[in-house]
Amino acid sequence: MRDSDTPKSEVRSVTLPSGRRVEISYLDGEAVSLADQGLEIVEIEANLQESVDQLLSCGQCGCDTVQPVEWDGYGPRHWKIELRCPNCEARCTTIVEDDVAELCDRAHQRGADELELTLTKLTEENAQRDIERLRHALEMNHLLPEDF
Ligand SMILES: [Zn+2]
Repeated sequence: MRDSDTPKSEVRSVTLPSGRRVEISYLDGEAVSLADQGLEIVEIEANLQESVDQLLSCGQCGCDTVQPVEWDGYGPRHWKIELRCPNCEARCTTIVEDDVAELCDRAHQRGADELELTLTKLTEENAQRDIERLRHALEMNHLLPEDF
């Protein structure tokens, strides 16, 4: 096989004005559109993320932990979501596309995971503090048989 039969592929890294770096694949000197598509997807996701951020911040008080409380399918590609602000109790119902609903769900799940993690840490810290207090009480002879 001669060299000219094998397409030459090459990846070049490009820095965009925004400071983001993208990799563009060149096949035989022609830019392959895959990288372009990748960039487009990233930008669509950024726009989606903006929609979700807007959705999850309260129009009344600005709190950014608005939670979905009800989900209902709305046609083949939309969801009707009832949202509630945990800070001022404002409620609203909105209709969003599948993609936004999915990101919203993920954001909500992330929030729930963070809460769970915080709770676990707090529980561990409390247990640690209880142990320290018990040890201190034992060392100081502050514990009496009638305490039990
Ligand atoms: Zn609010």
